[in-house]
Amino acid sequence: MSERDRLRRLILEEVDEILPRLIELSDWMGRHPELGSEEHEASKRLSEELERRGFEVERGILGMPTAFRAYYSGVGPSPKIAFLAEYDALPEIGHGCGHNIIGTAGIGAGIALRRVLDEVPGTALVFGTPAEEGRGPSAGAKRRMSEAGVFDDVDVAMMIHPTSGITRVNEGFLAVTGIAVEFRGRMAHAAAFPHLGVNALNAAVLMYMAVHANRQQLKRGANAVIHGIIKEGGVASNIIPDRATLQFGVRSSDDDYIPELVEMVENCARGAALATGCEVHVEVRPGLKSNVRNQPLEGLLYRVFRELGEEVEPPEATSKRIPLASTDFSDVTHVVPGVHPMVSIAPEGVALHTREFAEATMTERGHKAIGIGAKAMALAALELLLDPRLLEEVKEAHRRVVESH
Ligand SMILES: [Zn+2]
Ligand SMILES: [Zn+2]
Repeated sequence: MSERDRLRRLILEEVDEILPRLIELSDWMGRHPELGSEEHEASKRLSEELERRGFEVERGILGMPTAFRAYYSGVGPSPKIAFLAEYDALPEIGHGCGHNIIGTAGIGAGIALRRVLDEVPGTALVFGTPAEEGRGPSAGAKRRMSEAGVFDDVDVAMMIHPTSGITRVNEGFLAVTGIAVEFRGRMAHAAAFPHLGVNALNAAVLMYMAVHANRQQLKRGANAVIHGIIKEGGVASNIIPDRATLQFGVRSSDDDYIPELVEMVENCARGAALATGCEVHVEVRPGLKSNVRNQPLEGLLYRVFRELGEEVEPPEATSKRIPLASTDFSDVTHVVPGVHPMVSIAPEGVALHTREFAEATMTERGHKAIGIGAKAMALAALELLLDPRLLEEVKEAHRRVVESH
């Protein structure tokens, strides 16, 4: 047996050994979902598992109580491979995005890579990244970590996400910016003294329709999406509403198009305020970027998934898919080469962000995905540690794309 094959076998054995524990942790999270920025117990359980297996753990990094950084170096510090864990759930539907699988596959990959690090130079890092769904003070954790330089000394970052349909080595993700709008008017009796009122709901409705009218003129090929709601529009029909609020999200695969979309939404808000005599306050929240793809990394993951016997879509076919969603992992891929495989846990057509998908994370197929995800990431990491040429190719591809951005 070659040296490489022996090391690969160690990694596979390690994942098989720890899989029952990973499944236990994932199912516990599935049954005890915690919302973003409040994932105290999940963060504690995942980071303690790493600690028990020899990792150094720093908790509460960047002032985010449920974030952590765990690392293990053996015979040498470099290269540094990071696995990202998520563990936040959604309101009402629990782990309908399957972040319990992301968290456990992430620590599983770290623990498995650790097994070979007393023989092969390198560092395994596991980052606990809270509030991916954008809730609470730790929302956009990976963006904040990227901006603060947390990933600067990392060579490659990886995470898996569960999905329905066939497993893919990556996916395109949209840039997104959230916009919150508040109109202020004046309350009045709606029948007796309407002339004394300034109707904030009317402003909200006008704004909503103005944004809607602009949808027809969106740039073709930019995969632009605008979604919005009227969140508050009054308290009783016999009172002219003095306050109305809306929330919008603008998305595109073209990062440079986002500021134009934001400006359009702001103009709609100002126009509606002028038309109704309301005051308006617009808050543009910090956005997320679209992701930087990395062909050599995608090729590596494709090879590894196939070696594991996982049915996986060829990367060329995946590239033809239209980007649908957004993730704060995209910001990480602007700093370091990164890959975000989508591992199947349910048949095509089972939508993410549903109760059905949350259930799927706790089935045999969901459990299998934890093992496949951990193995694929750890084996890909091993290849990068053993093959400096491949690592350089990955970094060079990243430099090329980032410089042309
Ligand atoms: Zn989600
Ligand atoms: Zn998700």
